Formats: sequence, structure tokens, C-alpha cells
Amino acid sequence: MEAFQEMVSLQLTRRLISAGQVLIDRHDLPAAETEIKQAIIETMVVDYMLAGDVYERLLPAIRSASQPISDPVRRSVTSWAMREMPYCYLCGTEVDSSADGHRALTLDHVWPRAYGGNSDLENLLGACQSCNEAKADKPSWAMYPVQSYVAGLGVQAIEYIPKVMRFAVQARAAKQLARDEDCSLRDAYLKLGRPDRPVVLNEATAVDLFNLEFSY
Ligand SMILES: [Zn+2]
Repeated sequence: MEAFQEMVSLQLTRRLISAGQVLIDRHDLPAAETEIKQAIIETMVVDYMLAGDVYERLLPAIRSASQPISDPVRRSVTSWAMREMPYCYLCGTEVDSSADGHRALTLDHVWPRAYGGNSDLENLLGACQSCNEAKADKPSWAMYPVQSYVAGLGVQAIEYIPKVMRFAVQARAAKQLARDEDCSLRDAYLKLGRPDRPVVLNEATAVDLFNLEFSY
């Protein structure tokens, strides 16, 4: 149920940000504002007064969604990552800023840009290229196809679960930690440390996504 609610609100957020980007590209801001508020009213079924509040919160997210990582920020996060955390925060593989292929260091938006994540130091961590591509713009474990993933896998097969499923378990752990300790999602990933293999919480029941956890 929690996953379903989270997925619905994320879908709404994404839809409003996409619509806002199109409208701001098409018009200048004062003209776009009226149309974006109309889109908010139609999408969220809220009255006009509340649409103003939503608009004020939405506008920075629309701007962030269109903003690439600047060269100084890229240099700064890259050198920090190579010094302090030379591994992929999603799978633990060692990464190198001068490597090619899957060991190449890429910068991943912890909260995706497509959902309004900032391209700044507080929202970027180093990831290997294959994880960055696999994660794409998924912001949360709820966005993975968790509902259909009750696989009846044997415990010995845990390490073979698909990469995106391991992300989902890790994203769930990070979100829980961020909530418990009232910290940012990025700090939660840093506290979780280098990702290890997920463990089964209860071996007596069928192995499904909800029965996996990273120990931390
Ligand atoms: Zn990785």
C-alpha cells in the first residue's frame, strides 16, 4: 500500500514537472504560469488557491529538471569521489575517473533530475556507468516493478537477482534511514556505506523483495 501511494505521488510529480518544462519552453514565464496552474488543477483536482502553493514548490523542481551538472560542480564531485569514495555507491564496484567501460566513474543524481533533483554537491554521488544507466531516472524503490516481484527464489540465488532489484532494496534502506535520522537521501547512502549483498530477513518464508535487506 505504501509503495502504491508513493508510486502515485511520484507519477503525479513527474507529470507536472514534464508539463511545466514543455510550457516554459513554449512560452515565457508569466504566460506559462497560468497554464501550469491550470495543469495543477486538472492533474491534482485542487482549487485555485492551493494551485498557487503547489506552483511555488513546483517551479524550482521544473528549473532543476532542466539544469545539467556544471563543469565546476562536476570537477569538484569527481575529485571528492576519487579521494573519499572511489566506488560505485549503488553496487560497490571500484570506479576510476580515467577508466572506460563499466568501471568509468559517472555522477549520479541521488534524487533524479527528472523529478527536480538539484545538480549540486548535495545531490550527487559517484556511480559506475552500468549502474547509472540501469538506475536511469528511478527515484525510489516504489518505482521498481516490486509488485510483480515475488519470485520464490532459492536463498542461494540471491546474488543473481537483477541489478535494479538490488537498487530497490538499497533505495528502500536509504529512504528508511533518511527518515529515521532526519538526514538527506545522499547522507543516508553515505551512512549505508559500500553496498554489500542483500540478506534475506526471514529464510522460512518465500524470498521476495520485501524480505530482503542490506545490513547496516
Ligand atoms: Zn555500480
